[in-house]
Amino acid sequence: MKLVTYKTAASESIGVLIGGSTILDLPRAVRRHQERQPHTDGKAANFPKTMQGLIEGADWTVDIVEALLEEFPHDKDSTFSVKEEDILAPLPRPTKNVYCVGRNYIEHVAEGDRAQNRSHELPVVPQFFTKPPTAVSGPYSNIKFHSDVTSELDYEIELAVIIGKRGTNISEASALDHIFGFSIINDITARDLQRKHGQWFKGKALDGSCIFGPCIVPRSHWIENLTGSIKLWVNGQLRQSSTTDNMIFGIPKIIASLSAGLTLEPGDIIATGTPSGVGYAMTPPHFLKGGDTVLGEIEGIGHVKNVVEEFGSVTGMVA
Ligand code: MG
Repeated sequence: MKLVTYKTAASESIGVLIGGSTILDLPRAVRRHQERQPHTDGKAANFPKTMQGLIEGADWTVDIVEALLEEFPHDKDSTFSVKEEDILAPLPRPTKNVYCVGRNYIEHVAEGDRAQNRSHELPVVPQFFTKPPTAVSGPYSNIKFHSDVTSELDYEIELAVIIGKRGTNISEASALDHIFGFSIINDITARDLQRKHGQWFKGKALDGSCIFGPCIVPRSHWIENLTGSIKLWVNGQLRQSSTTDNMIFGIPKIIASLSAGLTLEPGDIIATGTPSGVGYAMTPPHFLKGGDTVLGEIEGIGHVKNVVEEFGSVTGMVA
């Protein structure tokens, strides 16, 4: 099940991707269901119109989505053909910063240490930083170049975890119960700013630098595939290729560590780190340039595909 937020003529809506480019619009499907069964739809009447609402009601909303998929697989009044550019970030404007884990794949730690002439040492606890809500950008939107402030723009494909259940001091054993689902983030990074400012935040926080989407796959529909392949290409050249079970700190450990004394809430997003193959660690370094096409893919979720804006481009981003 692939839940999406997408652009409509009037505004935006939520739906389920059925096939490559067809969406079952959830608010419309709920209305159609109510027309058919006006007296048996107590919960359906309160069905949310946003992804945040759908996540907050996770214990019942996903069941309703499953029922709607069975009831309306080909309903012409609630299914629509969409273009990729109409698909927005699943949570287009998260209520909080996106939590991120740095240096979480062994080979990526090694390439970073080599590139910076540091002795090789694995982290002993997860290293957290954040990206602000203003960084969040759609799965097919352009990547803003920011050539006035950086000349070292880089990519980092990552598995994203979406929290569905509030919790503090969550144990590793119960961590998976707090997950609503999974998505993809490309953690676009200005390496020169990341180094210059000491703390990583500035280099990780530029507008449009958190490519997010194209969908959220609910946990119950994906948990078996936690070892899915994770890959990224630049202009068709494979740069990153690993599997998500190569993380140093697995998802339960990340959630337990982050939630220690810090409350996680429905709709919180955690990017879980990137495998090796980033541009700055190549010899010589290969930073992104205007016109580059960056394609990132995680097995079982889908792909994000973004073109880096040319310098001076006036093309607006679809956030
Ligand atoms: Mg990252």
